[in-house]
Order: sequence, then structure tokens, then C-alpha cells
Amino acid sequence: MKRQRQRSHNFARASYGPRVVGLGLGLLSVAGVLATRETPWWVWAGPLLHGLVWPHLAWLWSRHCTDSVRAERRNLVIDHFFGGVWIATMAFNALPSVLMLTLMGMDSMIAGGWRQFARGMLAHAAGMAAGMLVYGAHWAPESDMVQVLACLPLLLLHPISVGQITYRALTKLKRQREELAHLSQHDGLTGLYNRRHWEHMARIEFARFRRSGEIATLVLVDLDHFKRVNDTLGHAAGDTVLRGFAERLQQTLRKTDTPGRYGGEEFGILLPHTGPREASELMQRLQAGLSTDPLLPQRVVTASFGVAALTRDLPNHEAWMRLADQMLYRAKDRGRDCVVTAGDSRPSPLAPDGSPALRLREDASVMRRVLAGLNLGDIGAALFDPSDRLVWANAIFLKLYDVSAEARSFAEIMRHCHRRQVGPRIDAEDIDVWLAAADAKRRSRPRRSFSIDMLDGRYFRVEEMSFDDGWLLDLWTEISAEQARLTGLTPVLPVPPVDGPPIPPATA
Ligand code: GH3
Ligand code: MG
Ligand code: MG
Repeated sequence: MKRQRQRSHNFARASYGPRVVGLGLGLLSVAGVLATRETPWWVWAGPLLHGLVWPHLAWLWSRHCTDSVRAERRNLVIDHFFGGVWIATMAFNALPSVLMLTLMGMDSMIAGGWRQFARGMLAHAAGMAAGMLVYGAHWAPESDMVQVLACLPLLLLHPISVGQITYRALTKLKRQREELAHLSQHDGLTGLYNRRHWEHMARIEFARFRRSGEIATLVLVDLDHFKRVNDTLGHAAGDTVLRGFAERLQQTLRKTDTPGRYGGEEFGILLPHTGPREASELMQRLQAGLSTDPLLPQRVVTASFGVAALTRDLPNHEAWMRLADQMLYRAKDRGRDCVVTAGDSRPSPLAPDGSPALRLREDASVMRRVLAGLNLGDIGAALFDPSDRLVWANAIFLKLYDVSAEARSFAEIMRHCHRRQVGPRIDAEDIDVWLAAADAKRRSRPRRSFSIDMLDGRYFRVEEMSFDDGWLLDLWTEISAEQARLTGLTPVLPVPPVDGPPIPPATA
């Protein structure tokens, strides 16, 4: 209420000056007529009161109204009424009469459009009628030189003043529009682009790639254990970290790169003209900087990075972001404070042909233990690398899913099954929705088990395990011996020895 009154006060003040000047000059043009005729003193009283006293009264009155716009419109109607009275007083002297009608009409149009204009014109007509009743109906429209000169100040100054007020209003409007546009695109805390606008930029980058084939890389960053920062040092310290990280991004990145605040403590970065290796190196520098030059003096806050370059097989920018998101969660799975890049190829004993595979050379025993724990004869198992590519699958897995020769990733296998209505029953209309949900679930725990319903009526218990650079999916059949006999599911691979399994060749 207090603010509304203050706003009203400001508006009343803004119209005060122009009204004092406008009606003062109007009085001069009326005086130019009255002074050249025999005019009794009391006839002067009306124009003098309106021209010199009324503007101040109008201001005082408006100041006390809560709706300043309405008050100003009311004052304009009163101006029109007295303008009409003056016309009658001047015996319809053409120049000052037309001038007053036009200028007041212009003010009304600005203040309230056609409606206010029509109201003003009616008030003007009423004023003329009242004037004729009081002063008598006289008709002397000719304007002489003195009268023309008396009108000139009003004719010159009033349009300039209205023009200046309009210009000021338009400039203010433009500034406000720019401020609003800035607010709608930026995050208040960090000053970076907000999620909506940043995603819009990612869409543009994706379209540019489709058009020109120009490479680009997208990175999603999530601060590690950020909740603990808030919990132990307070929310303000958390905010300082977020602002500091945003500044770090702006200092480290090039002008052409686009960082944005993706969510609470998640950030996105678009790197045009940048390949995955270059992007990954840049992120590693950023990551190292968080430890060597911490964002908080009392604590090192690290971050995990998911890096994904644009490739032709990505159908849209959402898939591009999903891929980066998957890499980010791999980074979290790997223990945080690291950079994981999609399609980052490393040699692996699982891939005799040298194709990208799991990082098992360093710790092949992990894989041996995993494989040794599985009865490969009775189950279907497959390994996927960080970008979801199928690295290895045993024959029973391929048979269960009826995997096509072209299917090379988990997503493709599922799309293939969905399209051909084989394998697992996918309980969603949209396969991409299903994949996103499955991915979110997979990321929520490094190891999880669930049951899966196949389209041919079989049920399986599924174990999913993510480790190092990839994840393993294995299906444990829970069918009874009778069902096994009916379905004809028989072992197709020998059980590998515990101390060093012969790794089956890559199938994809
Ligand atoms: P992880 O390493 O797995 O990412 O763990 P985390 O603790 O960083 O992740 P989690 O999602 O559990 O917690 C994120 C926290 O970020 C929770 C939320 O309160 C905090 N947060 C989100 N937005 C803001 C913000 O604007 N300011 C502050 N201070 N904290 C925020
Ligand atoms: Mg997070
Ligand atoms: Mg986090």
C-alpha cells in the first residue's frame, strides 16, 4: 500500500511540471484575446484561476489518490472542461481555440487512448456550453497578429515537452525490457545463463552442427558432495562456492564458450569448434585448479565432469545432453573429482580387435571375479562401455534379446527390441522416455537388481553393475525347470575357470 502510494506520488509529480507550464502558456494565449477586447475583471477570474492556481491544486489532489493514473485522467477531463469555458470566453477565436482543443486532445490520447479522448471532447463541449451560459454566446473567430503571437509559446513548447516526456517513457520502457530479458535468461546467483536459455543455446549449437558439421562439445559439471558444504559451513558458504565456480568458468573458458547454471550445483558448458580431447583437457585443467586454488579457504570442493562431443548419431540436442549426463554419472560412479568423456577409447583385453572397451588391462582380476561369479551357461550377460556401446555379450544374451547385427549400444538394442516387439516388455509408449528412466535408475545405484518381463512370457531377475569404465548387465533366469524345458533355454557357453577366463570375443 505504501509503495503504491509512493508510485502514485511520483506519477503526480511527473505531470505537475508539464501542467504548470502548459496551462500557464494556455493562459497567455487566452490573455492575448481577452486583452485586445473590452473584458470585465470578473471574466479574467476563471482563466487566471485555471491557469495559475488549478495546476497546484491538481497536484495536491493527485498526491492523495492511490490510483495515480485515474487521478491524472480525471484532471485531464477537468482541463478539457475549463478549456471549453475559455473558448466560449474568447468568443471562439479560431487559433487559441483550435490550439487548446488539439493540445488537450493530444494529452488525453496519450493518457488513455480513444476512450479518454472521447471523454475529453465531451467535457470540452460541456465547458463551451457552460461558458456560453455564463458569458453569453459570442462569435468572433478571426485571430489578429497579437493573438497569433500570444499563441506561439504554447504552440512551440507544448509539443516539444510532450515529445520529450514520450521519449523518456520509451527509453525507460526499452531499459525495462532489456532488464526483463536479462532476468529471464540469467541466473540470479551466478550471473550465468539459466537452464532454459542455456538449453536454447545447446539447441542452436546442435542445429549449427547439423547444417555445417562444425564440431562442438558439451560438458555437464556437478560439484561433489555439495550438500555437505551447505550442511557443515552453511548455505552462504555454499552460495560463495557456486559464485566462485561460475567466476572460475568465465575466467577459464573462451569468449565463444557458453557456460550456464543447469540446476542447483550443476553447470553446463558449450564449447563450439572444440573436439572431445581438447574439451577434456580443458576440463582437467579446471578440475586441477579446484584443488590447487580452492574455492573456499577452509575446504577443497571438487567437481565431476561429463564430456560429450557432437556426433552424427545423436538425433537431437536432448540426446547430446543425455550423453553428457551419462558421462557425468559415470564420473560420480568412479569416485567423483574426475572427467569422463564419451567415446574415450582405451585399449582393453576384452577387445582383441582394438575397439574401445573397458579399462580392464589395469585390473583384469576385477573382471575375472565378476565373470567367475556368473554362470555364463545359464544367464545372459553383456558389457557396455561408458558411452553405452556394447563391448561384449555372450550368445545367450544375444539370443534373449534377439539382438540385431547393427545394434551396438544398450539404447540401440532396446530400440531394436521395441521396434520388433521381441525381448523385454518395455512399459512405455516412448522408448526414449523408457531409456531415460532406465538410465536414471541405473545411475542411482552402482549395483541394482530388478525383475524383467519378456514379451514371450518369461521372467528374469536382472543384475546391473557399474564399475570402472562401464557397466555389466546380466540376467538370471528364474524360470522353473518345466518352463525351461518348454522354452528350450539351454546353456550355450561353458562356464569359465575362476583363475583366468578365456574372454569371449567382442561381438559388436
Ligand atoms: P554429489 O557429489 O553426488 O553430487 O552430492 P551432492 O551433495 O553434491 O548432491 P545433492 O544433489 O545431494 O545435493 C545438492 C545440494 O545442492 C542440495 C541443495 O541444497 C544444494 N543447492 C542447490 N541449489 C543451491 C543454491 O543455490 N545454494 C546453495 N547454497 N545450495 C544449493
Ligand atoms: Mg547435483
Ligand atoms: Mg553434487
